[in-house]
Order: sequence, then structure tokens, then C-alpha cells
Amino acid sequence: MSKRKILVIYTGGTIGMMMDPESKALVPFEFKNIYQQLPMLHLLDANITFQSLLPLIDSSDTNPDFWVRLARMVKNEYDNYDGFVILHGTDTMAYTASAMSFLLENLAKPVILTGAQLPLGVIRTDGRRNILNAIAFASEYVDDKPLLQEVCIYFQNNLYRGNRTYKDNASRFNAFYSPNYPILAEVNTHVEYHKANLFRPNLEEQLCFHTQMDDNVAIVKIYPGIRNEFLESVFNTPGLKAVVLETFGVGNAPTNSVFTSILKRAVERDIIIVNVTQCKGGGGVEMGRYLTGKHLADVGVISGYDMTTEAAVTKVMYLLGQDLSLEEVKHYIGQPLRGELTRD
Ligand code: ASP
Repeated sequence: MSKRKILVIYTGGTIGMMMDPESKALVPFEFKNIYQQLPMLHLLDANITFQSLLPLIDSSDTNPDFWVRLARMVKNEYDNYDGFVILHGTDTMAYTASAMSFLLENLAKPVILTGAQLPLGVIRTDGRRNILNAIAFASEYVDDKPLLQEVCIYFQNNLYRGNRTYKDNASRFNAFYSPNYPILAEVNTHVEYHKANLFRPNLEEQLCFHTQMDDNVAIVKIYPGIRNEFLESVFNTPGLKAVVLETFGVGNAPTNSVFTSILKRAVERDIIIVNVTQCKGGGGVEMGRYLTGKHLADVGVISGYDMTTEAAVTKVMYLLGQDLSLEEVKHYIGQPLRGELTRD
């Protein structure tokens, strides 16, 4: 069987840095020299092409335009490659993975994002193993069919569903966490797939690339003592269409009447409010469970179930970018579109 064709797209971030021998500063790595740096690439069962998405960025500078450009790059090369690896800064990788999952509907090939906590060009880098394993995952076919048919993040031995993750640690190599969905595969002495966890798209449908996202969406984190004036001014932002509200526990928030009426008036002005929990370790929103959550449901706040903030905000941007009615957007927020949420 011929080798799998893999496109590696470098977007920037720590992974692509190396120490400049003269200045001793970190400078972007020349990917045309990657085989010198990583001769083990030759051992992979893959023909690898490297491309950069220019300008290279620190992932703090990602935004919806960047996500659409990146998704377009995958879409344009979709028939030419068997799998895709995206080298990306870790800081916002979970947002990019989530956005890509929504933009690439009916994706049936692997798109694996990876990066590194330490640059490729330093001795202790985690980047080498992350790149090699991400390419190996992207090349994994069974009976001539891709085993992975979704947007994943590979990091430090674990393969995750991308839209279920967030960056959990700024210094450990184990930087990502998937609070509400089990890992898809793990790399130890053997590679173990958890096949029941893999996303399966509708193969009757062709890849559908969506090109629009609407960034009139804010994230508001509730905290004890939050001043209603602050809240009021966010909800009065011109053009605002939706707010992802990070609440306490299973979706609870203050019950004072001013707070509640700010939300109620926003909903009446057709601003969508999506409730997600700020508990990072797991669990989701159940607004009926406490009175402190029920009043939110009563004024028309909708549940984000167990979505991460990253998935919720990119999903709302994606849905608002489609030609959908307000009711349709609200409906789809609570439906699992790409395996990003679980409802009982
Ligand atoms: N600031 C960098 C970025 O996200 C950090 C990293 O790559 O890990 O682009």
C-alpha cells in the first residue's frame, strides 16, 4: 500500500521556534529544514508536505478570519491529502479546534492540531513527539478508510476531540484537558484507540465548508460581587448578538432582581444568552436544579449543557454566521453538531 499523503500546516506558536545560535533568541524555524531537525520523519508511513499559513502568528492573535482561512486551506487541499496536521500555538488551540470542527461540516478525514510547550529547537522540547505522533494519527487508515474523521488535538500522549478541550496548564507538558468527554486514543508503549469514542460523520454527505462567522458574541464570567452596571454595559454593546455566560456550578447566578432584569431585557432584545459552567473539571448546566439557576431559564437563558466555553463561543459565532433564524440558532446551540456536547 502506498504511503499516506499528509499536509502539515504551520501557523506559528512556540512549536515552530528555535534558538538562533548567534542572538540566542527564539526565532521561527525554517520548515524546509525539518528533516534535518527531525530525521525520524522518514520512518513514518507518510509522504509529508509542509506549508505555512502566513503571516505566522502567536495564537493569541487568532480570530474568526484566521479560522476561516485555515479551514479554507484544508478544504482546498481536501481531495489531495489523506490527513492534515496543524501546528498551532497552544494558548488558543482549543478555540481553533472548536471553530474548525464547526466550519468543516461532514469532515471525513483526520485534522489533528498539535503544538508544544517548548520550542522544537530546544533539547527538552515536547514538540518532536507531538509532531511525530500527530502525523502518525493523521496517517492511520483501516481498510483504506481514515480511522479519525474529526478535528482532534494531540498533546502529550493523548488524542482528544478538539471541541471538548481547553488549555489547562501553562507549564506542564500535559497542557490540555477534556473535562466532559473521554480521550480518543493514548500513546504508551502501544497506541490504544478508544474506538467507541470516535466521531462518525454522515458519509452520505460531502464536506461542506462554511465561510462565515459572526463575532458579535461576548463571554461574561459571573463572580460574587459582579456589579450590575458592568453587566448592563456589556449587554448594551452596540451590535451584540449573543453572550456566553459562565455561571457557577450547574448553571447558577445571582438572584437579585436587577441582575435578572438585565438578562430578561437582553433576551427581549433578541440577544441570545448561553449558560455554561465555569467549573473546569467537568459537569454541565442543569438550570432547573436550584432556584439560583431556574430564574435564568425562566427569563430565556438557554443551556449550553456540558460545552466548554471555547466550544460554546465558536459554535455561536458559527451559527450566527449561517443563514438561520433566531429560533434556529437557539435550537442548534443545544444540539450536538460535531460531538461537542452531551445531553441526557
Ligand atoms: N504564546 C504561544 C502561542 O499560543 C504559546 C504556545 O505556542 O504554546 O502561540
